[in-house]
This record gives sequence, C-alpha cells and structure tokens, in this order.
Amino acid sequence: MFPLLNYDSPADLKKYLASRNMAMQKKFGQNFLINPNARKALIDSLDAAPGDAVWEIGPGLGAMTSLLLNRGCYVKAFEIDKGFIEALKDLFQNEAKLEIIPGDVFKTWKPALPAAPFLLGNLPYNIGASILADFIEQKCFFSRIIVTVQKEVAERMAAKPGSSDYSSFSVLCGMAYTVTPLMVLRGASFYPPPHVDSQGVRLDIKQDVNFADYPSIQIPLVRSLFSSRRKTVQNNLQTFLSSGIMNVSRNRESTIRESTIRESSIRDIAAAALDACGIPYKERAEKLTLDEFTALARSLEKLRVNS
Ligand code: SAM
Repeated sequence: MFPLLNYDSPADLKKYLASRNMAMQKKFGQNFLINPNARKALIDSLDAAPGDAVWEIGPGLGAMTSLLLNRGCYVKAFEIDKGFIEALKDLFQNEAKLEIIPGDVFKTWKPALPAAPFLLGNLPYNIGASILADFIEQKCFFSRIIVTVQKEVAERMAAKPGSSDYSSFSVLCGMAYTVTPLMVLRGASFYPPPHVDSQGVRLDIKQDVNFADYPSIQIPLVRSLFSSRRKTVQNNLQTFLSSGIMNVSRNRESTIRESTIRESSIRDIAAAALDACGIPYKERAEKLTLDEFTALARSLEKLRVNS
C-alpha cells in the first residue's frame, strides 16, 4: 500500500527533495497538497472504482497518485518536471497500474488518446483554465473531472448568467459539463503555501448533450461576444462578423464601395440573427444563457448557408 512518503509533512518532503538534490520549480506552479482531509475528499468526489482508468495531471511526488493506486485505478500521470518523474519511478517502481507520461501535458495528451473516463489534478495555477479549455475544444471528454484550481478560476467555471464571474470559460465548461464547486483551500493546505486561495471543482459530463450538435462557430462566437464586456451583443457580434470568420463578405477587396456594402450586410446579418433568437440588440453577453448562445450560433450558420 502507498504512500511511501509522508505527504502531510513539509519537513519530510523538503528532506526527500534535498536527498535527491531537487528543488521546487516555481515556473511549474509546484505546490504540494499537504492537507490529507482535502486529498481524501477530492479522491472520494472522483468516485472511481477499482479497475477504472484515470488521467492525472501533475502528480508531483505522487500524493494523489498513491490514493488512486490504493483504490485499484489505472493511472496515466502527466508530469513535466524531470526530477519528479525520476522520483515517481523510484517511489512507484514495479507498479504496473501506473504509467508516467513525461513532458508538457499540452503536448503529450493528444498522442495518449483515447481518454480515460476520469481526470484528476491539483492543477498548477498557470495552466489550470487553459488545459481544461484545451480538452473541451479538442473534444476530449471525461465522465467526471476533479481538479483544484485558483479560486477565481473555480468561480468563473461555475458562474451563471448575470454574475460578474460569468465568462466565455463558464459557457465553454457548461457546453459539456455540469460544474459543482467543492471546498475552498487556503494557502496553508499547500507546501509551499501560495498567496491565493484554491478551490476544488467537480465536472460531470452532461448526458443529454451531443457536443457535435453545437455549431462549429459557437466557441469563437462566445469568445468574441465576451471580448468587450461593456459593449452590447450587437456591437460585439458585428466585430465578430467583420473578422471574416464567417466569410460574410465574399469579396475581401477594400474599395470604398465594397467595404460599405460589406458593413451594411454585416449590420443586417447581425440584426437578423439576433431577431431570429429574440435577443435584444442592447443585451450584454454576460446575460445570455448557453441556450441563447447556441441559438445565435445556429441562426448565424443558417444565414450563412442562405446568403
Ligand atoms: N499532485 C501534486 C500534489 O497534489 O501535491 C502536485 C501538484 S502541483 C500544484 C502541480 C504539478 O503539475 C507539479 O508536479 C508540476 O511539476 C506539474 N506541472 C506543471 N506544469 C505542467 C505541465 N505543463 N505538464 C505536466 N505537468 C505539469
């Protein structure tokens, strides 16, 4: 049974690192979760059964990995730090259920497909939101995800329309998952203690959604509508259409006459699309529900087909 290290004790962890001539690397967002109750609660929330396959991002020295292995899970652990990788090999030698994938998870996860049903990670602050967005945008889905991220990121993930935390990332997460905030973790739960709070988040795949049914322009559209939060949906939509992503104008030449035609057609298309979904022109993106973003993306695609 694991663990082989006392993951609750900064002194023991420091001693272990020193014995291997290793130091923590700030650039990789390394903060060990030294709070055993939090570790157990996160693993309990994942609720993986013996024999289940789990991807773990950033195993570090294996604090969470050991709990997963004790539960009989198969773990694919993505770790960037060469020193940690060697330490993991020594700590978990001959453990057939652990596969370590060395390198930057952004580069290594794609060849490692197909994805496991579960994803776990005490994510480094600097990559938390972007790796989750990467998985969703690349259509790599998990039945359940348990992560800890910076508290502000957790709030954005779980935010509802009308709240100041509601963002394109909230919509992106909501396209695939039901998001449930878990416990808040103060700096003292980690070694070294970070200056910001963290929070656990649980994401459960939405069973009633087929991601392929979302219009292909939906994600860029949502990003664009949130790009200037104080501007109206109409203004941001016109900017989105002018970007050419929809190929609204077949003629990209910039003579005065052509650009005037293009501008008026962009205004008309934006108005027609908003009218078709009953969205007021002066509305802000932060008020729109996921269904309204989807309806807007669909009506834009329809207008493109018919134009
Ligand atoms: N899982 C350990 C724990 O809970 O105590 C360590 C968590 S620590 C916050 C983040 C881990 O992610 C570190 O081990 C770090 O080296 C690793 N990491 C950082 N950036 C990474 C990346 N781009 N790809 C893979 N691992 C990364």
